[in-house]
Amino acid sequence: MPLSFKVVNMSSHNNAPLKILFTASEAHPLIKTGGLADVAGSLPIALSNFGLDVRLVLPAYPDAIQRSAPLQEVTSIRVPGFTETIRILEGRLAGRIPLYLVDAPSLFNRPGNPYTDASGKNWSDNGLRFISFCRAVASIALNHAELGWRPDLVHCNDWQTGLVPALLSSEWNRPATLFTIHNLAYQGLYDEETFQSLRLPPEFWNPAALEFHGHCSFIKGGLAFADWVTTVSPTYALEILTKAFGYGLEGLLQHRASRLKGVLNGIDYAIWNPASDPAIPQHFDTNSFNLKYINKVRLQQELGLPVKEGAFLFGHIGRLVEQKGVDLILDVLPGLIRTPNTQLVILGSGSPELEKALHQASKQHPDRVAVFIGYDEQLAHRIEAASDCFLMPSRFEPCGLNQLYSLRYGAVPIVHRTGGLNDTVIDVSPRNLLDGIATGFTFDTPDKNSLWRAVERAIQFKNRPGVWWDNLAINGMKQNFSWDTSARHYLDIYQEAIDSPAPNPIADITERI
Ligand code: ADP
Repeated sequence: MPLSFKVVNMSSHNNAPLKILFTASEAHPLIKTGGLADVAGSLPIALSNFGLDVRLVLPAYPDAIQRSAPLQEVTSIRVPGFTETIRILEGRLAGRIPLYLVDAPSLFNRPGNPYTDASGKNWSDNGLRFISFCRAVASIALNHAELGWRPDLVHCNDWQTGLVPALLSSEWNRPATLFTIHNLAYQGLYDEETFQSLRLPPEFWNPAALEFHGHCSFIKGGLAFADWVTTVSPTYALEILTKAFGYGLEGLLQHRASRLKGVLNGIDYAIWNPASDPAIPQHFDTNSFNLKYINKVRLQQELGLPVKEGAFLFGHIGRLVEQKGVDLILDVLPGLIRTPNTQLVILGSGSPELEKALHQASKQHPDRVAVFIGYDEQLAHRIEAASDCFLMPSRFEPCGLNQLYSLRYGAVPIVHRTGGLNDTVIDVSPRNLLDGIATGFTFDTPDKNSLWRAVERAIQFKNRPGVWWDNLAINGMKQNFSWDTSARHYLDIYQEAIDSPAPNPIADITERI
């Protein structure tokens, strides 16, 4: 007989609101390196607006501690494999969502990026850091941390939290688990020696569990063990079932396909709203789109570009990694420079080679290209508000948030038709224009020529006499990508996960041991 497990569902017994423990390694505005933080900072709020009892748990990075003060130590715990006592600090996200910070200073109290040192290299003890975090989350989820609260479901996000469903899988009366893939490219892979040192159950060293081609894969903890798996757009949910996008995990994902769903990310219109955004010089909305140019002029002044309200300004913001296709933007730069009256603004940080190449481009063409290397949340808002077009030639894009911000800010997106970009931007084909549904320019292959053809189409469209361009941008501004619809999808999935737990993938193996 395989071992059986029961998932606790408090709500079905007493009609109390569903209790969700939401966990991630980052959440805006406490700590952010990318889109995961935007989601983890806004989805819990949207869920709580539906009446759910949602609590968020994050590692206690210095920024997170500082930005969520006042905090109170509510309990302390010990976890296997880590010698120090871990304090659990409690605060509030957005003044209302209970927030637990897992405070283990020797693991998380480090300057800079949560995952890498100052030179961009992964911290060598990331395995220990995130298994200890996962063990702390599991402890809270089982109420072993004695917080007097027990969730019905734990919602885990990306590899840093991947071991939570695995750790919970063998627990009697465990909560249900959902694992969301924000980017399958990041997996948390460690060698066998590290696996041994982390004191994980030996039966996890199995291809049905964490083992992945001789390595221990943290993300597999979520993919194999969670009751449900979601990813952040319907198109990406299909793409990751293929060899081209699956990173060797496509077989496992196909196996889990009946419990895998794409739920498009929403965005927080309280933070990203050009009509009220405190970070931008000139507010505007669909009725005052004509004022948007003031943001362009102010950004040109700020970044030292020639001040021309009639310039066609292209923007790009993002992590400088191969995925995002910034090299393709550099490839089409000569075409942009040849086209009179165009300007390009780029904000990003990451690969030293790309940073160098971008610096060079701005030095060569100071009157056309402005580059800001670094991370600047406020500047990101000002670029969205100022740009006529936003370039997003990502080679793959699980959901992508910048194109959604761009739509809202009337910065018409030019995107590669992949993942969430395919689900959110509708190409300016004659038919789509006639139907009034076009919102941007899409292209099918992530290469220089295809991107350039899309850029050319945008330039030609911008030069059309009349109000064509304004209508296109305003159509984008009217799209609604708020969390409401997506949060409802999550509610349905939470309930399914609670009502019908998935079998433990290694139950047979565990029994034999
Ligand atoms: P990803 O999660 O792959 O990085 P997304 O488009 O989903 O990509 O989300 C990126 C988020 O990070 C957006 O909110 C974007 O504005 C922000 N961002 C990325 N790089 C920077 C930067 N250098 N400065 C400010 N914000 C940035």
